[in-house]
Amino acid sequence: MEGIINVPAPVRRILDILEKNGHEGYAVGGCVRDHLLGVEPKDWDITTNAKPEEIKKIFDAKDDIHTVDTGIQHGTVTVVIDHIGYEVTTYRIDGEYKDSRHPESVTFTDDITADLARRDFTMNAIAYNPNIGFVDPFFGREDIEKGIIRAVGNAGDRFDEDALRIMRAVRFSAQLGFEIEEETKKAVFEKAHLIKNISTERIREEFTKTLMTDAPDEIQEFKNTGILDIFIPGNTYDGEKYGRVLRLCPKRLPVRLAVIMAHTDCEDINKTLKKMTYDNETSRMTAAIVQYAALPLENGYDMRVLINKMGGDGAKLELYYRYAAAHPDIGVPDAPKWVSLFELYDKIIKNGDCCTIKQLAINGGDLQALGVPKGQKIGEMLNAALDAVMHDPTLNTKEKLIKSLDL
Ligand code: ATP
Ligand code: MG
Repeated sequence: MEGIINVPAPVRRILDILEKNGHEGYAVGGCVRDHLLGVEPKDWDITTNAKPEEIKKIFDAKDDIHTVDTGIQHGTVTVVIDHIGYEVTTYRIDGEYKDSRHPESVTFTDDITADLARRDFTMNAIAYNPNIGFVDPFFGREDIEKGIIRAVGNAGDRFDEDALRIMRAVRFSAQLGFEIEEETKKAVFEKAHLIKNISTERIREEFTKTLMTDAPDEIQEFKNTGILDIFIPGNTYDGEKYGRVLRLCPKRLPVRLAVIMAHTDCEDINKTLKKMTYDNETSRMTAAIVQYAALPLENGYDMRVLINKMGGDGAKLELYYRYAAAHPDIGVPDAPKWVSLFELYDKIIKNGDCCTIKQLAINGGDLQALGVPKGQKIGEMLNAALDAVMHDPTLNTKEKLIKSLDL
């Protein structure tokens, strides 16, 4: 494991400025973990003993830096350098937790170890400063090396404080391919029922992150603990059968969600997903994937109908879904069929085949000019023309369509 972290220049500068002003500063949490794993960190969080007002004062005094009050009451100030924000948070101890969610209060502290102790897992409780090295009081580096997710302190107590940590344990294990340490795992099962106290948004976020990892079948852990039933009542998801289906899905959220929602007893998938705080587009697309999975899909006409109903991107998602759902067993016995369906799709998209009324070579105005009265009749004729063109794309010329119309 690397002994030195190559901290990006702006992060180094923030740490230097803090030190020059008599404070401590460390990179901390996800960025240190990811770096040790050889993964490019998404963002760099910094922790310091400077209080929020001091952080603001020090950095706002620099010409090319400004700060944004992100969560002053929790001690977080965002320091912006070259349009990139770095969260700088004062060392803190979380106050008493009620209802397994938010701390009642936060208290600032001068002790980096106390700040690390409030963090969820040993791998997330490591701080690094280029001049000092690592501060790793819970042996997070050792756990990263072993591939272990271990709660900081007593796992049960930590999950009592904030039950979302249970889902984070499962998500990280799916994301990193790590094992959850035995005591922590025991607590995952014992405390899973506390997820009922967690807000739907927070659950949705961790659920989605898990579903989008390389090991989406780890969702089974949510099923086994009862968490899935809290989040998606009425689901009949069975990892034995559908875990492999999930693994065959590309990393597109509606496709993976469709695998779960297809096995959920609910009247309206779109509505159910919106209630789970998914955005409109994800909810609508997931519902469409499940709904249109029953449409025939044998030839060019079927494919164009699918594109008509779902749009180009939607039809591709439907193809992925069906491909995965058709292959619950390892091995792809009818691979040629699927290769040719994907090729057919590509050809239709590349040719720009007409799949919507808008793409027809005639429009309502043309029909009126030919004497068709305004109203329902025009719509019926355009629909008939579209159906003909979806059967035979070469018909999509003004001349041929007018000739074929029953005027
Ligand atoms: P990622 O950003 O990849 O999802 P992360 O570990 O960076 O993972 P964040 O939510 O960005 O997760 O949190 C940053 C850090 O804050 C974590 O590394 C951890 O130290 C701490 N943390 C986050 N959520 C919790 C929590 N629920 N309980 C305790 N500590 C937490
Ligand atoms: Mg993060």
